[in-house]
Amino acid sequence: QWSQVRGLLRAEVGDTAYSTWLKPLDLACVDGDRVVIAVPTQFMRDWVVAHYADRIRGLWTSINPNVRSIALNVRPAAAANSAQANPAAMPAAPAVIRPAEQAEAAPASDAAALEELGARLDPRFTFETFVVGKPNEFAVAAAERVASSPKPPFNPLFLYGGVGLGKTHLMHAIAHRVKQLDPNRRVVYLSAEKFMYQFVRALRSKDTMSFKELFRSVDLLMVDDVQFISGKDSTQEEFFHTFNTLVDRGRQIVISADRSPSDLSGLEERIRSRLGWGLVADIHPTTYELRLGILQAKAEQLRVEIPLRVLEFLASRITSNVRELEGALNRIVHQASLVQKPISIDMAQEVLKDLLRANDRRVTIEEIQKAVVEHYNIRMADMTSARRSRAVARPRQVAMYLAKQLTPRSLPEIGKKFGGRDHTTVMHAVRQIERLAAEDRSIADDLEALKRKLQG
Ligand code: ADP
Ligand code: MG
Repeated sequence: QWSQVRGLLRAEVGDTAYSTWLKPLDLACVDGDRVVIAVPTQFMRDWVVAHYADRIRGLWTSINPNVRSIALNVRPAAAANSAQANPAAMPAAPAVIRPAEQAEAAPASDAAALEELGARLDPRFTFETFVVGKPNEFAVAAAERVASSPKPPFNPLFLYGGVGLGKTHLMHAIAHRVKQLDPNRRVVYLSAEKFMYQFVRALRSKDTMSFKELFRSVDLLMVDDVQFISGKDSTQEEFFHTFNTLVDRGRQIVISADRSPSDLSGLEERIRSRLGWGLVADIHPTTYELRLGILQAKAEQLRVEIPLRVLEFLASRITSNVRELEGALNRIVHQASLVQKPISIDMAQEVLKDLLRANDRRVTIEEIQKAVVEHYNIRMADMTSARRSRAVARPRQVAMYLAKQLTPRSLPEIGKKFGGRDHTTVMHAVRQIERLAAEDRSIADDLEALKRKLQG
């Protein structure tokens, strides 16, 4: 049963998340209706509970309805050691982390180990394929400057912007350029999630020293999506030390996030402020001109003839982000080759029905408040009042969360609509609901129902 659950989990969450967070779990025992799962560390336990507990429970009960509860226990240290001695019980962990002395003595294998630490770069994400426009020109200029300077022109470079606006693309572009200019430079690009996992793994194998040395030997460290580094002091601590050491040694750091350093509320204050010391470059939402430019460039790359009218239609209607815009173009091109017909606006409209509808739907904060008030059967005045009783505070938080998710409004703007609350209150509400939704099915159901109602 456990292997069935694991197989389903893997299919649901994808290989990367699976091998990072779920593969290291072991079935400890099944005791009547109770299942106990062993987790290597407290940190992993917290993460798995917050992100995957519902899924694990759901899958398990779907396979065996008798199971009532699932407990995740941190494996005692002794057990963890014996698990290490038994390779079958361990996640595939190539011996990339070597003792410090050995790493010093063997720079070649050190470089290989560094490569292992990072993530693969997408060869398509270069400066050459990145279309520059008003919303991103500042970020691009900063990225090019970092990529071509032998010494850090500013440290760190902090790139931030909404999802699908090109942060990851730009980071990969920096890495490609740096390696092109000097193949010996040690570049490590990885997601914050992977950074945390590497750290946890090093802790587990009691090999943190060499882990630290390894990380600290890079010339350019890029950590993507740092909004995911939060909670757990030890990881923050490690991140901060690595960061400071690299800066002291004159190595370049590039960070990305979906929000500005000051809005990274999961991070300690001193880290937040430190992240803002270099250059902070904001990637703004796309304009019509940029979207059209990107579509033209992509059409050229795909070597397909697409009428300008169709590109203009897409640029004016798919406004959410570049990822969706690319997806829309790919779908149309695919459809055209499938049915062997020329590309037209009619065809685009037909193929992209769902996407167009989602992009058309602009939900306002007022609509969200109204829907939430109706859903929970409370009064509109409770959305803005100072009342703190759970019966009204929770729905209010849900409304703030939805406002953040479904509208382009900033945290301070949202706060204003909720009786002049400040942005940290809104941020707290967003986090709180995210966390609850992961643990509590009824909240997750509420959110889904409300989203359906609002987005039609
Ligand atoms: P983020 O990391 O900010 O969520 P990505 O870098 O993953 O966004 O970008 C999403 C997709 O959009 C990628 O395929 C990327 O190549 C493309 N993209 C984003 N901005 C641009 C741009 N200005 N020019 C060309 N492609 C872009
Ligand atoms: Mg990204």
